[in-house]
Amino acid sequence: MNQWSPFTWAALFAISAMLVNTFGIWLVYRFRRQAEKAKEKVMCFAAGVLIASPLIMAFPEAVEHSQWGGLAALGGFIFMFFSNRLIRRQTGQTELAFGITALQGIAIHSLVDGITYSVTFTASVQTGFLAGIGLVAHELAEGIITYTILRHSGRSARRSIFFAFLVAALTTPVGTFLAWPLVSQLSRQGLGIALGFVAGVLIYLSASHLLPEATKDDHHHAWPAFLSGIALSLLLLVTHH
Ligand SMILES: [Zn+2]
Repeated sequence: MNQWSPFTWAALFAISAMLVNTFGIWLVYRFRRQAEKAKEKVMCFAAGVLIASPLIMAFPEAVEHSQWGGLAALGGFIFMFFSNRLIRRQTGQTELAFGITALQGIAIHSLVDGITYSVTFTASVQTGFLAGIGLVAHELAEGIITYTILRHSGRSARRSIFFAFLVAALTTPVGTFLAWPLVSQLSRQGLGIALGFVAGVLIYLSASHLLPEATKDDHHHAWPAFLSGIALSLLLLVTHH
């Protein structure tokens, strides 16, 4: 595994993210009910990975690289909080406006997802791997959500597939490849700050977005899926160290 360059790994994960997202779009187009069921489980699993991996891997590594790692993590969390508030505040007028503002939010979110692969794989292949598994898993839900929003805003199925792919799926590798030249040039200090920021973003994503969404109906499968995400992260941590 270590003979591959960090860039190869980041590219592999970013493209997998795009494919899983596209699969989610197709799934909800083709099998609506099954897709909704799968979405909840996958969100819980992704929430488990995305709360464990920043706390046990990305954040400690950020603090090791830079004394500003903790502050950067706080910044990442606050950034996500306010960007989500902005999206929510602008929604609710008309269906179409909802579609467009939500899509802007998803596009920015997906770009940040992509940048995360660049930052974490530049730090180390292990850190990238841990965050990457959770991120790729949550792409399924993201594809399903984006398609659903587009359909609700009145677009045809075919246009919804096309725009969901552009906004949610394609933006992730674009983010990775745009960020790579910059991120790979960062100093140790700069990488620590970037890694801290990303850890804050991932913690927000898990605790404030995926978990409340996935557990709001309180289904029985929520906890096993969440705990299996955490267990997988711990297993990867143990086997890679
Ligand atoms: Zn995402």
